[in-house]
Amino acid sequence: MPIKETPIKETPIEEVTPREAVERQRRGARLLDVRENDERASGVAAGAAGLPRSEIAQRIASLVPDRDSEILTICASGKRSLLAARSLRELGYARVASVVGGLQRWRAEGLPIELGQFDADAAERYSRHLLLPEVGAAGQLKLAASRVALIGAGGLGSPAALYLAAAGVGTLTLIDDDKVEKSNLQRQVLHADARIGVPKVDSARQTLAGLNPRVRVDTHAQRLRAANVEELIRGHDVVIDGADNFPTRYLLDAACRRLRIPLVYGAVHRFTGQVSVFDARRAESPCYRCLFPHPPAAEDAPNCAEAGVLGVLPGIIGLLQASEALKLMLGIGAPLVGRLLCFDALAARFHELRLPRDPQCPGCGPLAVLQGYEDIAQLCAAH
Ligand SMILES: [Zn+2]
Repeated sequence: MPIKETPIKETPIEEVTPREAVERQRRGARLLDVRENDERASGVAAGAAGLPRSEIAQRIASLVPDRDSEILTICASGKRSLLAARSLRELGYARVASVVGGLQRWRAEGLPIELGQFDADAAERYSRHLLLPEVGAAGQLKLAASRVALIGAGGLGSPAALYLAAAGVGTLTLIDDDKVEKSNLQRQVLHADARIGVPKVDSARQTLAGLNPRVRVDTHAQRLRAANVEELIRGHDVVIDGADNFPTRYLLDAACRRLRIPLVYGAVHRFTGQVSVFDARRAESPCYRCLFPHPPAAEDAPNCAEAGVLGVLPGIIGLLQASEALKLMLGIGAPLVGRLLCFDALAARFHELRLPRDPQCPGCGPLAVLQGYEDIAQLCAAH
């Protein structure tokens, strides 16, 4: 009769409930959160030390030198913590257990959570950003420290400001000298019927504060002019061009180039719109005047009040501007530098044009000389 081989059976890893884990912590067990670093931004089980599973082999000896110590592992749902506990056992730690159900069950049972760099409001409000490795805690903190200037609290500025405020940009500066009119409400969704006649920047501030009270909203009920343009946009990380006239756009472009602030350009006309990014910090970036070297005659460039616009169109273009602004602040993705993205609502089609820097550009070319912003104002007035 053949001898029956006894299979070498690995002792399964012990699993403990979150409540049991709290009890064992009290008696001296160490709790390790084995999720990735960015996953801990929205909170950890009270008393847990962060040690991502991939770093266990290098770091456990310095974190828990005594191999007889009891170690409990926790992750989001209890799967990775089991694997981590197995690794710990292989490294010679005999007393290991995994928290069943992970942080999900921990939270569901109302056990204490510790928050890191974020208070409870921010951790919950920005939780969907914190889940993205490309944003995460570090990115969210970058946004909170960022300042965006929006020229115009109108069709383009409305969606851009709403979503930038929702995203947690620290400071939004709104520059607009108009008052809310009934004809604005078809597309300028920052405003409200009850606030017709109110300065747009005040109306906008009210809406933005209601959406995200954490965001600071600075307002200037002024028209952008040669005399104030630098003062108004200096110190910002990104400028969003939501202007409805050429003189303002030319001024803004010149000032952003001089102050080396990226300018996110957007424009709409009837059923079409376009977006681009002019970033003076990049040598290869064109400027607004590479696209429009000279201001067109007023009759060739009608604004929305003259030509009409489909209400949703500035919504689409303004959100593309907000998306570019967020990417610039976070330093992720490929910005629309050197590219003009065009949208045709009737055809439901996007197309992209290459927009190289123009060596003869009167704005950024080698022969361009900026005498002063007054010159630009006069240049525009002459056309
Ligand atoms: Zn140029």
